[in-house]
Amino acid sequence: MNKIVIANWKMNPQTKKEAEQLFKAFLSKDQKLNKNKVIICPSLPHLFISQKLKNKKVLLGAQNVSTENEGAYTGEVSPKMLKDMGVNYVIVGHSERRKIGEDDETINKKILNLLKYKMIPILCVGEKKRDHDGFYLSYVREQIKSCLFGVSSSNIKNIIIAYEPIWAISSNKGTEATVSEFTEMKIFIKKTLSDLYNEKTAHNILIIYGGSVNSINAKPFLEEGGADGLLVGRDSLNIKKFFSILETIK
Ligand code: PEP
Repeated sequence: MNKIVIANWKMNPQTKKEAEQLFKAFLSKDQKLNKNKVIICPSLPHLFISQKLKNKKVLLGAQNVSTENEGAYTGEVSPKMLKDMGVNYVIVGHSERRKIGEDDETINKKILNLLKYKMIPILCVGEKKRDHDGFYLSYVREQIKSCLFGVSSSNIKNIIIAYEPIWAISSNKGTEATVSEFTEMKIFIKKTLSDLYNEKTAHNILIIYGGSVNSINAKPFLEEGGADGLLVGRDSLNIKKFFSILETIK
């Protein structure tokens, strides 16, 4: 099956020129992307890049969205505004946003709203640490249950779930999860989804891995771990490194 690779640029780079350069370098290798789906999520001011994406294989994503649709919400960006810029995918519930106060209820509102606009939410879930009593499993289950509250079984297939253990994210000085840690969690997430919906529906939901992905661990996560894709932070900002990830999974 074709895989999804999502580049989360976070709050980088600092200038329009650098963002353009990064995109240009990326698009010059566009033909090498093969059948995998690559989604670039720049910061909001750099979404202008969408104009350069016409007829290219790469897709555009955003890193956040408002819970609201229009009106007096200073500093917010609506789903419609994003859609108009060519965005079809939006990361929601990233741990770096949860850290500054975003809770499951807010994430749930964002998901329901995005679905209304036929956009694909990329829901990030993941525990802060692993414990011997398996508390981290119920923690992730609660995140999923709350964030998906009210999502119908016909809509759930339009959501991508990214398992990103917070301890594995590079900016937290983490090292990647092991493939078996990912596989265990993937099975657990499928079981949670199967309890919430049904087995067949759960089977079709895409589960990707994020956390210190690089060109060495990318393939094992996808092939041995059964990840449907990868969410890449740090190494997506370096074209050489990002392409070596894409090359390994052609
Ligand atoms: C992330 O924070 O979404 C992420 C995957 O980061 P990194 O690849 O840098 O660990």
